[in-house]
Amino acid sequence: MADNNINTSLDIEKVRADFPLLQTEMRGKPIVFLDSAASSQKPQIVIDAISKYYNSQHANVHRGVYELSQNATDAFELGRERVRSFLNAESTDEVIFTRGCTESINLVASCYGRKFLSEGDEVIISAMEHHSNIVPWQMICQEKGATLKVVPLNEKGEIIMEEYKKLLSDKTKIVSIVHISNSLGTINPVKEIIDLAHEKDIPVLIDGAQATLHSKVDVRDLDVDFYTFSSHKVYGPTGIGVLYGKRKWLDAMPPYQGGGEMIKTVSFENTTYNELPFKFEAGTPDISGAIGLGIALEYVKDLGFDAIAAHESEILTYATEKLLAIDGLKIIGTAANKASVISFLIEGTHPYDVGTLLDKMGIAVRTGHHCTQPLMDFYQIPGTVRASFAVYSSKDDVDKLVAGVERVANMLR
Ligand code: PMP
Repeated sequence: MADNNINTSLDIEKVRADFPLLQTEMRGKPIVFLDSAASSQKPQIVIDAISKYYNSQHANVHRGVYELSQNATDAFELGRERVRSFLNAESTDEVIFTRGCTESINLVASCYGRKFLSEGDEVIISAMEHHSNIVPWQMICQEKGATLKVVPLNEKGEIIMEEYKKLLSDKTKIVSIVHISNSLGTINPVKEIIDLAHEKDIPVLIDGAQATLHSKVDVRDLDVDFYTFSSHKVYGPTGIGVLYGKRKWLDAMPPYQGGGEMIKTVSFENTTYNELPFKFEAGTPDISGAIGLGIALEYVKDLGFDAIAAHESEILTYATEKLLAIDGLKIIGTAANKASVISFLIEGTHPYDVGTLLDKMGIAVRTGHHCTQPLMDFYQIPGTVRASFAVYSSKDDVDKLVAGVERVANMLR
């Protein structure tokens, strides 16, 4: 595969043909899949790579002297190298495989928190965080007697940077903020957020669950301390995710879980830990997951980041205009800098009813609080209907959504 990102436009029909699930039906109609923020569909090459692994390459990794195990280890570690290259990390030692973005954040909250948090310290998050970037911090803060500080938002769903600056203090031990909001689509100014924290020597974790799907991420350019994402959101398999961490932090943190792989020597008296990245990877890893994720990231690179961005921006603009033309429809989340996620409400209807009726038309959208209950409280709403787009989303999908929403609005009012 070519290692470039110079494509500037996508052949959308060709891209759609790469995804077998998009050729299927839901409720007897060709599926209109608009829930990629929850999980994206998988291209055939990812499915083939996983199937090939189980058909002819499977053995446990890092421990066999026989050829099959060595080949499986090479394939698994190639997955890690592909993640390193995708993120532009300095070394594969800084790429830890986890179960997903949730586990990556839990790992940092637990290991960084155990070592560096004490009573009276503060952790900063924002008001638009996913539960997985709230609860792990709440848990460690409770344990350590630290306090969670929350940066407020404006009505458009943007972080109020002046308030963020005010919260940064000598008490702040870490900042943990989402790159792109899964509920609103807001793209946060993460570079500025990181730079401001670094001025006070505070490390920053960026939750990239929604970002790797839409844009190029360069951890060295961002100078970010921790970056987390899930494979399944970026066209890879479920069950695996990534924690990127700067070596200086990973070296300083205690291990997460104990077991095989993460040790150098074990006796009943004492254990010494393995080097990075294995120190944080106890037990048999998700070997097929790493292989599939590596292929998914190559697929994205081959399509080209510029082409993906241009396509998704076109879809976002098209869908926003068409949806706003529907009587009584209000978009929640109108940040100036937005990814292709649209949350909306229709006056006089409940999001759940809208989603259920759209399902009957073969249209898959997400309804509810999207694991951001405090954000819904901020807007004083029970939830939204969310349509989220990916590289394979077409204008035809948008037209079907708009026609469906119009019908549903008329039926329910
Ligand atoms: N953060 C954000 C912004 C997300 O959208 C999600 C998934 N919805 C997560 C974290 C958690 O990802 P996962 O469930 O794959 O661990």
